[in-house]
Amino acid sequence: MRLVVLGPPGAGKGTQAVKLAEHFTCADVATGDIFRANVAEGTELGRAAQEFMDRGDLVPDDVVIAMVMERLAERDCDSGFVLDGFPRTVNQAEALDRRLAELGTPLEAALSFDVTEEELLRRLAGRAAAQRRADDAEQTIRHRLEVFAIKTRPLIDYYRHRRLLTMVDGVGLVEEVTDRILHGLPSSNGGRDPALVLAV
Ligand code: AMP
Repeated sequence: MRLVVLGPPGAGKGTQAVKLAEHFTCADVATGDIFRANVAEGTELGRAAQEFMDRGDLVPDDVVIAMVMERLAERDCDSGFVLDGFPRTVNQAEALDRRLAELGTPLEAALSFDVTEEELLRRLAGRAAAQRRADDAEQTIRHRLEVFAIKTRPLIDYYRHRRLLTMVDGVGLVEEVTDRILHGLPSSNGGRDPALVLAV
């Protein structure tokens, strides 16, 4: 399976990406996690990314695209991948399309999580307290939601036009949401179940 997962911060992308990668026995590639690990290790990539992350801004496209292209060339991605947090801009989506076209392994699906802003703010406040993520402080959260709306939301139409989009109702127990996704994905049931998937 080659899948991208889109959604605002707090939508549950990371949790579901892990479950989906397990289900499809493929690589789970989470760009935010890769950046956080690099910041913790003090690498050059970490230093390049940190100021953007702390402000709740996107790391520049050239940095992110180079990192993801390198990661996708690793062996574990041969069996497919769930990309969590990439692409976040149209530029990134086009770079991904170009690379996958070169490899002859196009994307199979794009999931977009639907969660109300009220629920997102509630979840992110809980995560800030539990994980001490600097970028989960309240004004940074609001900024990240704005960045999502401006830079990333256009990808919903981008993938809708390519007939790859599945919208997922992201509210509910983790297992319920995973079930919804697996029923909604085109390759899992040979078609989408309109009762479980909000819009395609
Ligand atoms: P996440 O854990 O996915 O919310 O990512 C945390 C932070 O890492 C984001 O707020 C960005 O600063 C940075 N980041 C992760 N993925 C990307 C991406 N695809 N493009 C730009 N910045 C990213």
